Order: sequence, then C-alpha cells, then structure tokens
Amino acid sequence: MKDLPNKAVFLDRDGVVCLEKGYISSPEQLELYPFTWEAITKLKEAHWKIYIITNQAGIARGILTEDDLKLIHQRLLELVPVDKIYYCPHHPYGKAALPYSIHCDCRKPAAGMILRAARENQIDLKHSYLVGDRASDILAGKKAGLITVLVRTGYGAMRLEQPVEPDYIFADLRKLADFLTGK
Ligand SMILES: [Zn+2]
Repeated sequence: MKDLPNKAVFLDRDGVVCLEKGYISSPEQLELYPFTWEAITKLKEAHWKIYIITNQAGIARGILTEDDLKLIHQRLLELVPVDKIYYCPHHPYGKAALPYSIHCDCRKPAAGMILRAARENQIDLKHSYLVGDRASDILAGKKAGLITVLVRTGYGAMRLEQPVEPDYIFADLRKLADFLTGK
C-alpha cells in the first residue's frame, strides 16, 4: 500500500498547548505556555501538520456553549499556526440537552477525533505522533496507531490516573519539537 502523504503531530489542548485551568469559557482565559508558539512554528517549518484534539465536555456539562468554544478556538488559531482543532463536546452524563449528553466515539480515550482528522487530511498514522498530558490521550493515540508522547506539563506533572506506556516522555512540547526537528 502506498504511504499516505502527510505526517502529523496531534496535540492535546489543555496541559500541552495551553495552561491547564479547568474549563475556560472565554478567549481572555486562554493562556499559552511560553514555548508554545515557537514549538509549533518549528514543527510547521519542518512540514508537520498540526492538529489539536481536545475533549470539551464542559459543553455537555452546561459550563460553556459550543459558540463560546468556537470563539476560544478562533483566538487560539490566531495565536499559533495549528492546521485545525477537533473537539468533542460530549459527555455521557452531561446535563445539556441532546445531542451533547451521549456516549460518543470521539471523547478520548476513544480514537474518533484522531481517525476523523486522519481521514480528512490523508494522514499517515503510523508515522505520526500524539502528544498528551493524560492517560486518556495516550490510550486514544495507541488505539489510532500513533507514536505516543507524554509531556510532563498539565496533569502530566502529576501521577497519571492510570498506568500507560507512552513511546516517549518529554518535559514539554518544546522538547518534543526539538526531538522531531533534530535540534
Ligand atoms: Zn464526542
């Protein structure tokens, strides 16, 4: 089988790209790590596609609306050269009305968002990376057949909720970008 053309780095949002602050509901609360812009720019220059893959159950929980989230993500896309943001607004025990409070196949540790991004963008999963700070990120990456990376920012600075075996562990996104670009 011919290799697919694009290699990607799939990034979790909170605790990897942005500071982990619990649920945020406005663009003003968005705060990047000091190294985020440089790390993502470096990866883009080395021809990696960059996708953010994020669980946003705050929508199902009634903490923010999907329109609030769109404004936050619009701002995020202005700040860093990410190709696209994929989010899961669902939670099985949410309190928002349908279609949000459901069991879905996109909420990590499910692989639905990654597989959708791969389909839409012709991504070669076997040679692509998943970067996350939680066990659910690593599990989703493994299900999708990605190379998995745990970073020690966000929840990654603490003991993980469950044991997982990422392929690599780095201090933060900057170290991963250095590794992938050979610097
Ligand atoms: Zn979902």
